[in-house]
Amino acid sequence: MSLSAPYDPNNIFARIIRGELPAIKVFEDDEALAFMDIFPQSEGHTLVIPKKIRATNFLDADPAALAILIARVQRVAKGVAKALNPDGIRVAQFNGAPAGQTVFHLHFHIIPIFDGAEVKRHAGEKADMAVLEALAEKIRAAI
Ligand code: 5GP
Repeated sequence: MSLSAPYDPNNIFARIIRGELPAIKVFEDDEALAFMDIFPQSEGHTLVIPKKIRATNFLDADPAALAILIARVQRVAKGVAKALNPDGIRVAQFNGAPAGQTVFHLHFHIIPIFDGAEVKRHAGEKADMAVLEALAEKIRAAI
């Protein structure tokens, strides 16, 4: 999928927004939805996606709408920090398959970093859903 690929309204994240697919949610308002990544790179890896922006990637999105979204990204990142007390947090974002993008609905990764803990490969191993739910409960309470 190239940088200029058209938006597919049936991508996985669009289906999660519509409630057609499940997600372990930690935050939702009219603008954005945040949920646990099911192939997490670290404990607490969370995704933040826009609900109104129909953009394949960052380059596609209207700057004013991005400003609204990035405020949610920061809010969720602060919640993850408060809930899990990581040593650092990566906020990451990939555009186009050659850059590592695998789901073609604009999104931000919030990846907590813990000293000495491995950061797993991108979109790798599926997590235990009970573990994700327990992490989500803490993050939800902190947002
Ligand atoms: P990208 O590769 O596009 O930057 O990020 C997509 C992310 O979505 C990856 O980190 C991947 O682990 C995650 N992911 C893929 N499919 C699903 C899914 O069905 N549910 C959830 N919660 N995350 C997913």
